[in-house]
Formats: sequence, structure tokens, C-alpha cells
Amino acid sequence: MCWSKIVEFFRKPKKAALDLLHPEESMNPLATAESVDLNVVLDKWFSDWVVPEADRAFWKSWPIFLVPGLTYNGSAYPALTWPDRTDLDPRWANPGVIAHECCHVVWARLDDTARAAFSAEYQSLMLTNALLQLMRSQKLYVQTQFGKNSDIEGHAECYRYLGTQMPESLLVYYKGLI
Ligand SMILES: [Zn+2]
Repeated sequence: MCWSKIVEFFRKPKKAALDLLHPEESMNPLATAESVDLNVVLDKWFSDWVVPEADRAFWKSWPIFLVPGLTYNGSAYPALTWPDRTDLDPRWANPGVIAHECCHVVWARLDDTARAAFSAEYQSLMLTNALLQLMRSQKLYVQTQFGKNSDIEGHAECYRYLGTQMPESLLVYYKGLI
């Protein structure tokens, strides 16, 4: 390598050091209720997000129904989680969407004190934590939901995109997931 190339190399802007651990997966327009194997998607989520071994049986038993063209109140949704089940459009049956929805199951089991404590910690971290800020800057969903009584979505997005990268003080709110 000649000297000018070396100089050029060091002058090149470096790739940003920060990146989301689990970037958003694209929708698969060809996926159908018949072609999707939920066990495979769950296993990929377990291994990529390092879901505790002891909790995997619970998630395997959580009812997830594949609903092509899922809508609610006239709007399309990739997935919706109810107190007793998750409905999932097969085109969005990927580990990231499953990770997000399973957070809603965990959130439903947090008491009001824990929810308020999460909100306070999350909103305070959002002011200082570079990864959370990166997530908010890249993810329109978090952006539009943030600050509008939507820490439920913030809770889910934080796990979905950051996984084990999330700030340590938040881990306590993800029992069964991390
Ligand atoms: Zn959600």
C-alpha cells in the first residue's frame, strides 16, 4: 500500500460505531399460514436474543395464531397481542416481531409500580443513552409513540432492537425474555 493510499484510508469517515443489535427484518410477502413454521421462528428468537432456557417452554406454549391479512378496527397490523393470545400476520412471522409481541405478554404481568418504574427509567435513559437515542432516531414507531402514553411500545421496541445490548437497569423488566 503506497503512502497516499494509507493517508486516504485514515481520512475516510469511519462507519458509526453504534448499531442496533437486531435490525428490523423485512416483511416476507410470500409467507402464508401454511409455509410458516412457528417453531423455527421461535427457536431463532430463542438463540438470537438469548432467551433463558428455563422460559422457553412457556413461550412455546403461548398461543400464537397465524392470521393472514390481520386487521383491527379497519387498520392492518403485523401482530396483535391479547391477554390470552397473539395474532400474527404470517408475512411478519419473524423473530423480531415475535420478540416485540412477547414483551407485551410480560408487560401485562408487571404491576403498576413496576410499570411506573420502567417508564421513569426508560424516559430518563432516553435523554442520555446513545443506543436508545439511535433506536428512536431510526425507528419511526418508537418516535411517534414516544411520550404518548406508549411506554408499552417503548418497552417492546427496546428489547426487540437492542436485546442483550439494552441498558442493564432495564433488564429487571424483561423477566422470561432475557
Ligand atoms: Zn406493540
